Amino acid sequence: MIFRSTAEQSPSVDFATALLTGVPPDGGLYHPESLPPFPSGFLEEIQVGIRRHGPDPVRTGTLVLNHLIGGEGGISLTALERVSREALTFPLPLTRISPSTFLLELFHGPTLAFKDVGARVMAHLLAALEAEPDGRIRTILTATSGDTGGAVASAFEHVPGTRVVVLFPRGRVSREQRIQFTTAGPNVHALAVDGSFDDCQRLAREAFADTALRRRHGLTSANSINVGRLLPQLIYYVHGWAQLPLDAPPPSYAVPSGNLGNLTAGLMARAMGLPAHDFIAATNANRVLVDFLDTGRFSPQPSRPTLSSAMDVGDPSNLRRILALYSAPGDNRPLLDPARLQDTRRHLSRHLSASSWSDEETEACIRRTKADTGRLVDPHTAVGMLALQAARGTNTGQSRPPGIILATAHPAKFRATVEPLIHDSLPLPASLEERLHEPERTRTLESTLPALVRALDDVGTK
Ligand SMILES: *Cc1c(COP(=O)(O)O)cnc(C)c1O
Repeated sequence: MIFRSTAEQSPSVDFATALLTGVPPDGGLYHPESLPPFPSGFLEEIQVGIRRHGPDPVRTGTLVLNHLIGGEGGISLTALERVSREALTFPLPLTRISPSTFLLELFHGPTLAFKDVGARVMAHLLAALEAEPDGRIRTILTATSGDTGGAVASAFEHVPGTRVVVLFPRGRVSREQRIQFTTAGPNVHALAVDGSFDDCQRLAREAFADTALRRRHGLTSANSINVGRLLPQLIYYVHGWAQLPLDAPPPSYAVPSGNLGNLTAGLMARAMGLPAHDFIAATNANRVLVDFLDTGRFSPQPSRPTLSSAMDVGDPSNLRRILALYSAPGDNRPLLDPARLQDTRRHLSRHLSASSWSDEETEACIRRTKADTGRLVDPHTAVGMLALQAARGTNTGQSRPPGIILATAHPAKFRATVEPLIHDSLPLPASLEERLHEPERTRTLESTLPALVRALDDVGTK
């Protein structure tokens, strides 16, 4: 796979380079120049394998990764099989909640959110690509709105030669989220930024743009902007689809959305041939995508705090990738050119709709789902359920496509929100419960690049 920058000012690179450098020097994002279609029979083979042997994420992971990056940087099928086995240590089940509605449960990993999939596969891909590490310490710098930090910390905490620096917005992540990176191994450093997630993301972007700094610390990004996180997310779209009944028509996918990495992976899978009726982006009050699809204008906003905090993103970076994916080939206008945006929106609207939901609606959905189905869902998944229901409208007939809601987090991860709604207490999985009693290690950080440079230089001496 060849990757080019969405800003179109840097040379194209191969997968290994895109993975190791994270972001191109021109400040854009790497995205695939073209997507290899799934060969005929590829998806059906996975489907039949699941029928015969049960859903095995390692098998799906190996096949999907091999299709995407097999042979790149010398990675063999055996190496990819090992990456999948070490990273995908938890199930990705599709469960039915009504005759034609399914939850794709992506939250059974160590940090209870879907980001475990991308972060863990990326960590093991990095290790596979560096068969002979050059002895230098690599610093994974990552901005988090809540869940990325834990997923990345957990994926890399015992990886030799790697240090992790997590930037998180102070006071804006749940305690259950925070302890996953403030009590992680000694190579994980948590910096509480005085500001919002957008400030954290801006700081990370500024750090990556500083070539000297980048070299000094061997900075690599592990945000959803890294292709090493993005591509593995195609695994669960394939795995989810392949668990549908054999005769099911192409489904609608409802995707709880913030920085749009999850949605981008789904749209890429569709472009490669994954059966899809349509995609429904579910957002909270941070509705930049909804407004873009309504008006064709892209206007980033300051992020607004909500109950589904991992989706509090006012300037979703992956939108540029989606625009690149849906642009007419050969269009030389800048991606964000107003006229080009209008054209891209027209293409995109054929496959994608979006809606925005308030905290009150989210709370009501969590309560109603518990009452109607006995199931507990976290606030992000609830937003996904609301969006699917609204997109289906009154269509309850036979012609209605099945709906797959991507269940992105475990309800216990957001129990401060969920417990009062259901008037019950939610036990934490044991791994997380233990961490509640460990001392947290964090330091606060002023939201400026010089402050971040000082902090990086300081942890660099440890
Ligand atoms: C990160 C996250 C999202 C948003 O995913 P994006 O890829 O940023 O759109 C949704 N739900 C949960 C639980 C998350 O952690």
